[in-house]
Amino acid sequence: MSKKVLIVGAGLGGLATGLRLAKKGYSVEIIEKNSQAGGRLNQLKRDGFTFDTGPSFFSMSYEFTEFARECGISLPFKYYALDPLYNVNFKSSPVIYSLYKDIAKLAQQFRESEPDFEKNMRKYLEKSGRLYHDTNVVIKSNYDSLADYLLTLMKVNPLHLPVIFRNFWQQVAHYIKSDEARQILSLVAFFLGRTPFDTVGVYTLLSYTEFQHDGYFNVEGGMYKIIEGIVKELEKENVNIIYDTEITDFLSEDSRLSYLIDINNKKWTADIIIINADAAVFRGKVFRRPQFSEEKLDRKEWTMGSLTMYLGIDCKLPEVEHHNYYLGNNYREYASKVYTRPEITDTPYYYVNVLSRSNPECAPEGSESLFFVCPVPDLRFKTNWDDKDDIVNSMIDDFSARIKKDIRPHIVSKTVYTPVDWQDQFNLHRGSGLGLSHKMMQIGGFRPKNHDEIFKNVFYVGASTIPGTGLPMVIISSKLTYERIEKYNALRSE
Ligand SMILES: Cc1cc2nc3c(=O)[nH]c(=O)nc-3n(C[C@H](O)[C@H](O)[C@H](O)COP(=O)(O)OP(=O)(O)OC[C@H]3O[C@@H](n4cnc5c(N)ncnc54)[C@H](O)[C@@H]3O)c2cc1C
Repeated sequence: MSKKVLIVGAGLGGLATGLRLAKKGYSVEIIEKNSQAGGRLNQLKRDGFTFDTGPSFFSMSYEFTEFARECGISLPFKYYALDPLYNVNFKSSPVIYSLYKDIAKLAQQFRESEPDFEKNMRKYLEKSGRLYHDTNVVIKSNYDSLADYLLTLMKVNPLHLPVIFRNFWQQVAHYIKSDEARQILSLVAFFLGRTPFDTVGVYTLLSYTEFQHDGYFNVEGGMYKIIEGIVKELEKENVNIIYDTEITDFLSEDSRLSYLIDINNKKWTADIIIINADAAVFRGKVFRRPQFSEEKLDRKEWTMGSLTMYLGIDCKLPEVEHHNYYLGNNYREYASKVYTRPEITDTPYYYVNVLSRSNPECAPEGSESLFFVCPVPDLRFKTNWDDKDDIVNSMIDDFSARIKKDIRPHIVSKTVYTPVDWQDQFNLHRGSGLGLSHKMMQIGGFRPKNHDEIFKNVFYVGASTIPGTGLPMVIISSKLTYERIEKYNALRSE
């Protein structure tokens, strides 16, 4: 008889693990708090516009291809490469930097500020590439103990040791001289949810993944096609997703979780239970583990909060590319206060994505669907969001000034999510958008494990367990969790 698996959460992690297991003959059921699958990789349809609500691009496309191959399916969505990867504009400057993957073309833009940019960039990327390939084993392994993790770390070439003691900014600055180029290249640290000044230098390996190894990709029809595609594959395997059902309690017997209990007191059970809700939050809130109490979680390092805005405008913006970063002129000062100081209204730094640019079906004819993301403090540092309109108005004014077109009279649809919405929708700790940060003491063997400390039949998948946050990492997480479950079953049937 097939083993029954219950998954809590229909985010990318839950869906991908569900498909891997269903394809191997497990009988899978998924419970989701919200009325739609996807978790943070979600979609909003409003006033005739379609918006991707969280992720707007992905890297490491080969992780998705491998996932599809391992599940024995064709990739259930189509993606295309972005080049330039993104554009960057500094305040009060007419210059727009385009991040081309062709390094010679990229270097043209820094020829005055750094004549040797091309040579320096190639050296920087060569080192980033070595970091990527040499640390891959750490990202793609399960650890049975801290000692096991430390042993895996010891496999990494010791030549990389100095990079562990540098932050992201210092590692970039070690090779690149122009201040603008340093700021632009170190923006990747923000994608990991922190700043270049508190992200360890090893993550400069991401520069290699974006410029050389692979790139950045968009999905035809919008990012939510990833979720729609996987859900269709799950339907073919008769996997049932039960929506509007939040798990709030449990019943256990010794080292076995017997039942999960939902908000309406209904009991759920299975042979194996997988938690796709945040691995730290669920242990604290539902399993009531003292090590994950609210106070203990507050003392951990979390990624930024996100203030996101979804704007439908009734005009076209041909001058704006897919992915655009709008920066101020005080990078260091900004980075030092972005996560902790509640006053954000003056000159926020922000990102704008134009989904309708290559997906015209996402906006009515002659219109544009825009997505803004502004990094903000999480709810530990800013509890009151009554000023959210001031923040978004200051972004809209700044954006209008930079593109030299007043979009204010053209706004026909506007939705804003503050960290309160991100927290409440997806049970994210204090509205932290990307989950636990990737500081050295919160990754690998130090991250919340993907198997439970007490219940032998409980496993975790997603951004706050190993290996980390972002869509490709969550796909890797689903593989690690699947492998753990197969091992657990093999041991039990011995
Ligand atoms: C604004 C923003 C922009 C981002 N941009 C990018 C990007 O461009 N590229 C990229 O690669 N990554 C990006 N990310 C990160 C990416 O979205 C996440 O890493 C990824 O989607 C996490 O997937 P997950 O399955 O781990 O968790 P989630 O997506 O959070 O899924 C967990 C699911 O569990 C459900 N749940 C929680 N608690 C319970 C409960 N008690 N009972 C039942 N269900 C429950 C939630 O509702 C949710 O559906 C972005 C994130 C944000 C917030």
